[in-house]
Formats: sequence, structure tokens, C-alpha cells
Amino acid sequence: MDFPEPRVVFSRCLGFEACRYNGQIIASEAVDHLRKFFDCVTPCPEADIGLGIPRDPIRIVRTAEGLRLVQPSTGRDVSDDMQGFARDFLDQLGPVDGFVLKSRSPSCGLTDVKLFGEASKGSALPGKIPGFFGGAVLERFPQAAIEDEGRLTNFSIREHFLTRVYTSARFRRLEERSSMAGLVQFQAENKLLFMAYNQTRMRELGRIVANQERLSVGEVFGRYAETLPLVFAKQPRFNSAINVLQHGAGFFKDEISAREKGFLADSLESYRAGRVPLSVPQSIIRAWVARFDVPYLEQQTFFRPYPEELQFISDSGKGRKTS
Ligand code: SF4
Repeated sequence: MDFPEPRVVFSRCLGFEACRYNGQIIASEAVDHLRKFFDCVTPCPEADIGLGIPRDPIRIVRTAEGLRLVQPSTGRDVSDDMQGFARDFLDQLGPVDGFVLKSRSPSCGLTDVKLFGEASKGSALPGKIPGFFGGAVLERFPQAAIEDEGRLTNFSIREHFLTRVYTSARFRRLEERSSMAGLVQFQAENKLLFMAYNQTRMRELGRIVANQERLSVGEVFGRYAETLPLVFAKQPRFNSAINVLQHGAGFFKDEISAREKGFLADSLESYRAGRVPLSVPQSIIRAWVARFDVPYLEQQTFFRPYPEELQFISDSGKGRKTS
């Protein structure tokens, strides 16, 4: 299986350049690992609007005129500059498969930014909000793979992110060719992956590809492009993924030994308990696919949604699902 290079936007301070307000860079093992495989676009909204490096910090303040992005030490209000930067950057961005933004930043943060009642003093108000740039990204790309570097330290979240990013990149490559035969093949190759994520959306995609309304190729691709991200709106449920794995194992029921079946069952239990990522039981089935040569499973992206080299086991437990 060959993999296209996904195009992903990273906050520049995540290992690309020492551009934080204090002149520092953020070390992120997850980002360091992933970035080698991606076509990286690396904005630093604060540096790019001319705040300089280093610079005095900025914060989001609730005022009578709404939320404002201000620099307490100078009293400067950079809200309009930041909104203008976000609009222009996203207008000119072009095709993109995902975003990895810096958590807690009043510019890049996605969900966890402090909000203040006053520009110069006082502690944070209750609740967290998106940063000015992060919020604009979420608004412009509501269905995209968007994470912060903190969440990517969790292996399940990382797997989900990588699966979305590579599926998006594969589909973009296909879109460039606009071939119906290619789309039929894409749907077939992703069948088990979509099944693990969302069977209702999988069937919806199947109906779009079947094209009983005889729409033009462009219209079919347009509808498919709109629906595809909805498949990945949530991480796959453990039970759905396990059902797909058991379906895959069924192809080998007469070939493998009772011990091998037991080994897979243990691995599925570890996955269900959140002790290992999905890639662990997937790799057992993949080994059987290679051994017994089953072309149908060989082509399924479910067993290899992204390059193997991107699998690394380190895990913070942050954001881990429990059911
Ligand atoms: S969080 Fe965003 S604005 Fe702040 S230093 Fe990093 S890239 Fe720049």
C-alpha cells in the first residue's frame, strides 16, 4: 500500500522554530515523530502579525465589545490583526488534511485557553475557550482532523488523527484524477475501516458511489467529499473495531491454531481494556494476511490506515476512553 504525503498545519513553536513569547521552542515527541512524514505548513500567528520574538504575552479579555486579544504590558489590542491574519491565512491555505496546534495559547489554542475579565490584572474567569486563530480554524474546517500537541500524546487519539489525515490525503489524490473507477475502488478498500467507524455513514458513501441518480462525476465526488469526514467524527467504538477484527479473523478460521486464536483473543481484550492501541490486534491479522495471502484483506486500509513507521507506543493516557 502506498501512502501520499498528507498536508498538515502545525503551530510553528511545536519544534519548528523558537518563536514563543519568551523566545523558546516547545519539545513534542509526538510532533517530532509525525512531521517527518508530512508536508508541513507552519504559521506562528503572533510572530506573523509582527509582535516580535520575544514579546510580551497576550491574553483574551471579555469586554463590553466582546472578546478581545490584548497585550497587557502595552495596552495594545491585536484582535483585528489576528482575525485578519487568520482569515487571509486560511483563505490562501489550499488543500489541507489536518492541523496540530499549540494547546492553551490565546492564539493557537483549540479549547483550553484562559479567559480574563481585565486586560492588566486579575485571575482567569471560569471556563476555557478557543484561541483567536484556533477558533478560526475550527470554524473554517468543522469536520477536519484538528488536534493539539497535548492530546496527540495519547495513542488512541494519535491513531484516530493519523487515520483521518491519511484517508483525507488518499481521497485528495483520487479527487485530482476524478475517476469513478478509482472512487469505486477507494470505497471497496476502505470498507472495513468505515465499518469500524460508522456503518450508517459507510452505507451512505456506498449509495453515493452507486450513483443511482446518474449525477456527473464532479457531483458524485462533491457529495462524497462532504460525507467522508463525517465517518470519522468520533473515534471508533471498541466493540465496532473488535467486530471488524473478528470478521477479518474469520477468514483464517480453518488455518490458524487454537493457540493463535487465543493470542488474538488476548490482544482484543487488551485493546478493549485500553491497554494497547488498535494497531496491536490489527498487526496480528495483518501477519495472517501476509502468511495466507488473502487479497481482499490485503487491500483493506483498516489493517494499515497509515505507514507503520508512524506507530509508536508511547502514551500519556491523556484523553483515554474508558468505554
Ligand atoms: S502558540 Fe501559536 S502564536 Fe504562540 S508561539 Fe506557538 S505558533 Fe506562535
